[in-house]
Amino acid sequence: MSVVDRQEWDVVVVGAGGAGLRAAIEARERGARTAVICKSLFGKAHTVMAEGGIAAAMANANEHDNWQVHFRDTMRGGKFLNQWRMAELHAQEAPDRVWELETWGALFDRTKDGRISQRNFGGHEYPRLAHVGDRTGLELIRTLQQKIVALQQQDFEETGDYESRLKVFQECTVTRILKNGDRVCGVFAYERETGRFFVLQAPSVVVATGGIGKSFKVTSNSWEYTGDGHALALLAGAQLLNMEFVQFHPTGMVWPPSVKGILVTESVRGDGGVLRNSDGKRFMFDYVPDVFKEKYAESEEEADRWYEDPEHNRRPPELLPRDEVARAINSEVKAGRGSPHGGVFLDVSTRMPAEVIRRRLPSMYHQFKELADVDITAEAMEVGPTCHYVMGGIAVDSDTAAARGVPGLFAAGEVAGGMHGSNRLGGNSLSDLLVFGRRAGWHAAEHAQGLAGQRPPVADAQVDTAAAEALRPFSAETEREGVAGPSENPYTLHQELQQTMNDLVGIIRREGEMEQALHRLGELRVRARRAGVEGHRQFNPGWHLALDLRNMLLVSECVARAALERTESRGGHTREDHPTMDRAWRNVNLLCTLADPTGGLAVTDPGRGQIRLSRESTDPIRPDLLALFEKEELVKYLAEEELYE
Ligand code: FAD
Repeated sequence: MSVVDRQEWDVVVVGAGGAGLRAAIEARERGARTAVICKSLFGKAHTVMAEGGIAAAMANANEHDNWQVHFRDTMRGGKFLNQWRMAELHAQEAPDRVWELETWGALFDRTKDGRISQRNFGGHEYPRLAHVGDRTGLELIRTLQQKIVALQQQDFEETGDYESRLKVFQECTVTRILKNGDRVCGVFAYERETGRFFVLQAPSVVVATGGIGKSFKVTSNSWEYTGDGHALALLAGAQLLNMEFVQFHPTGMVWPPSVKGILVTESVRGDGGVLRNSDGKRFMFDYVPDVFKEKYAESEEEADRWYEDPEHNRRPPELLPRDEVARAINSEVKAGRGSPHGGVFLDVSTRMPAEVIRRRLPSMYHQFKELADVDITAEAMEVGPTCHYVMGGIAVDSDTAAARGVPGLFAAGEVAGGMHGSNRLGGNSLSDLLVFGRRAGWHAAEHAQGLAGQRPPVADAQVDTAAAEALRPFSAETEREGVAGPSENPYTLHQELQQTMNDLVGIIRREGEMEQALHRLGELRVRARRAGVEGHRQFNPGWHLALDLRNMLLVSECVARAALERTESRGGHTREDHPTMDRAWRNVNLLCTLADPTGGLAVTDPGRGQIRLSRESTDPIRPDLLALFEKEELVKYLAEEELYE
C-alpha cells in the first residue's frame, strides 16, 4: 500500500477559474471548510483570457433590456436545445452577480453617466456585456481572488490560521474522483512540481475544470483544457450531455502559424468591425439564415446606421451568433475568396479612429502588433474559425448544479452541459460561471452539512489503484497489461489526436470521416496505454501529458460518437450530409456514459469503444417561458406536438 497524505474538507472544488472560485467563495460563506485545487498557478486559469465581457441584462445601455429578452436571445442562440431552466436562472441572476462583483472591488468601464458600461455582442438584442476594455476575465479573476484573500484574512482573525476554512492547492492535478459505493468521498491528486500524491477527502466535490479545446489542433484554448473534469466525471459514473456541440469561434488568428487559433475577440465586431472577402465584399449579408432574417439588416447602410440608432434599424449580420459566422467564413474560404493565409479580412481600421481602437481594443492592438506585425489601426486583420468552447458537458440539475446520478458531485462553468444548448452566445460564459458557480458552491456546502457524522470514508484500495494508474507511464513496457508494442511518445500521440479531431470532427462533419475518427481514436487509445516517459516524478511535463491523454481520448470519443449520431445541423454541430436543422431532433438529448459501468477502460481492442450513447427527451419548456416568443418564431424550431401542447 502506498503512503499518501490525506486531508479532510467539507467541499473540494476542482478548478480555480471563475466557476471554481465563485463556488469556493459561496461554500465557505455558507460555513463549509473548502479546498480549491488547480492545475495552474492561482489566478492563471483560462478565465483570465476572457476578453469581451459578461452578459447581464442590467439595461444600462438600453432601457428595454431585461431578463426575458436575455432568456430569449440565449434560447435562440442555442437553437432551443438549452436546458431552459438554466437559461432562465442565468438570465434572472446574472445582473446580481455583476453588481456583486462590483461590491467586491471590480472596476468595470463606465457609461458617461457613471453606470457600468455594456457593449454589443453577437446574438444579444441589446448592448449587454459589462466589460473592462478587452481584459474582462482578468478583472473577474482578480476580484474573486481578492475576495478569497479577504475571507482568509477574516479566518485568520478568528482561528489564527489563514487556511483553516479556505485553502488553495495550486499547481496540483486531480486524476480521479474517489467514491464510496455510489457516493463521492474525495479526490486523488498529484503536485506538478514534486510529483507527490495526496488525497483530499470530502463528501462534496465541485468540478469546475473548463473545456476540452486541446483535443483540437487549432484552438483558442489554454494548455489546461484537456477535458479533465469531463473525463473525471465520466469515470465517476456521471453522464455527459450533448457533447457533439463544440463552438468554433469565427475569428481566430490564422497567421503566423505559431499563433494560429489565438482568439480575436467578438468585441471587434461588436464595436463596428466588418468582415470582407478577397473581393472586398461584406459577405455576411449573403449568410443570414431564415430563422434570423427579420432581425438583421439587409443592406450595409442599414447595418451601419444601427450603431447610432438601434431603435430604428436592424443589426449588422456580422453580429449573428458565432456558429453562423464561422460557417460563413468557412464557405468563403472554400469558395476561393479567402485572404492570403486562408482566412478572411476583419477590418476596424476604416471604421474607427486609431485612438479609439487603441482604447477600446488594447489587447487586440498589441496581440496583432507583437505576434503578426500587423497594425490594426491601419490595416485589416486576417481571421478564421478556431475551436473555442464546448457546449456539451456534465449533465446537471438546473437549480442545484448536482451531477445527475452521482451523489456529492457538482459541476459548474464550461465543464457543465445544458445551459447553452447547441451554441453559446458570447459573454454568456462569464455570467454562466458566476451564476452556476455560486449555485454549485451553495448546494455542495448543503450536501456536506447534511451528511454530518456519516461521511463516506475513502478506501485504501481505491487510493492504491489511483496511484498505480498515475505511475503507469513510468513502468517497463513488458509490464503493461498485455499491450505489446514499442513505447509511445505522449507528444506524438497528442499531435495525432489533435489532427484527427481537427480534420475529421471539425467545423463541417461527414459520416464517413467521423467513423474514420472513431477508428483512429481506438488505435490511439491502445497506443496511449504504451505512452512511456523517462525520468522521475519531479516536474515532468511528458508524464503530465501522458496522464492527460486518457482524458482527451475519452472526451474526443464522446464528441465523435455523439456527432455521428445526431443526423442534423444545429448550432455548433454542422453535418454536410444533413445540412439543415431537423425539428424532430429539437427535443433530443444525447447522453454519454462509460461503456463499462464498473469504471474500467477498454484499452486492448481498438474496435471496442469506451463510451455508450443513449437518448432522452428534453423537459417540455414551461408555458410562461414559451409565451415570451411569437408563435411564428416557435414554429421554426419546435415539433408540431410541442406546439400543440
Ligand atoms: P477555467 O477558467 O478554465 O478554469 C478551469 C480551472 O480548472 C483551472 O484553474 C485549471 O487549472 C483547473 N483544472 C483543469 N483540470 C484540472 C485538474 N485535472 N486538476 C486540477 N485542476 C484542474 N466568455 C465570456 O463569457 N466572455 C468573454 O469575453 C470570453 N472571452 C474569451 C476569450 C478567450 C481567448 C477564450 C479562450 C475564452 C473566452 N470566453 C469568454 C470563454 C470563457 O473564458 C470560458 O468559458 C470560462 O472562462 C471558463 O471558466 P471556468 O471557470 O469554467 O474554467
